[in-house]
Amino acid sequence: MSHTVRLREALAAVPVYKPGKPAAVREGVTAYKISSNENPYPPLPSVLQVVADAAMQMNRYPDLAVTELTQALARRLGVPAEHIATGTGSVGVLGQLVAATCDPGDEVIYAWRSFEAYPIVVALAGADSVQVPLDGHARHDLAAMAAAITDRTRLILICSPNNPTGPVVHQDELDGFLDEVPPQVLVVLDEAYVEFVTDDRAPDTLATYASRPNVAILRTFSKAYGLAGLRVGYAVAHEPVAQALRKTAVPFGVSTIAQQAAIASLAAFDELQERVDALVAERERVVSGLRHQGWHAPQTQANFVWLPLRADTAAFAAAADKEGLVVRTFAGEGARCTIAETEANDRLLHVARKFVVARTF
Ligand SMILES: *Cc1c(COP(=O)(O)O)cnc(C)c1O
Repeated sequence: MSHTVRLREALAAVPVYKPGKPAAVREGVTAYKISSNENPYPPLPSVLQVVADAAMQMNRYPDLAVTELTQALARRLGVPAEHIATGTGSVGVLGQLVAATCDPGDEVIYAWRSFEAYPIVVALAGADSVQVPLDGHARHDLAAMAAAITDRTRLILICSPNNPTGPVVHQDELDGFLDEVPPQVLVVLDEAYVEFVTDDRAPDTLATYASRPNVAILRTFSKAYGLAGLRVGYAVAHEPVAQALRKTAVPFGVSTIAQQAAIASLAAFDELQERVDALVAERERVVSGLRHQGWHAPQTQANFVWLPLRADTAAFAAAADKEGLVVRTFAGEGARCTIAETEANDRLLHVARKFVVARTF
């Protein structure tokens, strides 16, 4: 008789998520963790007040149907409330999407390198990841992704802007791609960073979803809205997909505090937009600084920049760490660096310049 608990075989294929490291403490140096794409601004006073008020009800279960937030989102986006499904962060909604579409052995197509959570949620469902390499500009290769569709394909994830490299897909290429996807395959446009996009070739995803029943949009309050710690994200999808996402949600997963903070953040949109604009301006300053130094940084539309360091990735991370900056590394590929406080951004440019001077590549 075996003495070990029998666990699902699918778990053997689940990669362990690596959270961003905390910054190392160094005397006299403010350390910055620019490895998790967090918003550097503290919560707005108006949002904090709502959170404090909501905390008074923590002995109660939250509204299971997330009614008020769903209605606020529907109004802001101009979509029917029935088309909105919420979850514990957009990673939570991603799990709901896979649970709603995939049986063991089904296939999920996504670009690679892309968001670290994709292989995890796919493997958890016992489904198979089909990873299609990015093109030479660190962009989605939509032609190759269309060619990867089989009769086992149930779900296609398009990350735009792409985490960790930054570029968006363009409306014309997305339209051409969607024309080739069979109507029974769900295409999810993961727009965690949509608020930071300034490229006018980026897709109008609400219009795209409105005209295509097999397209859904995935968004979050974690990045531009600065609520990463409260775990609230949502999908915009047609019935019956939205209904399936409500079925696969963790019951009572989105707390009252998170629901109320998200509503208050929508109400404070203008104030938050000023912060987003400032981060976008910093992004452009950092990217042009890096290019001026000779870096081939892709055209990022998010709140981070990608340095394609390849074999030099670990050495760069060590150099950054020495200066009190923790970056996110992908061994042998590159480093993702979040646009953060001005001082952190200045320091990133400083570390990058020193690195370029020290090595020629
Ligand atoms: C950060 C991120 C998310 C959002 O995660 P939450 O669970 O909403 O905090 C989703 N997709 C991508 C690509 C991300 O980078």
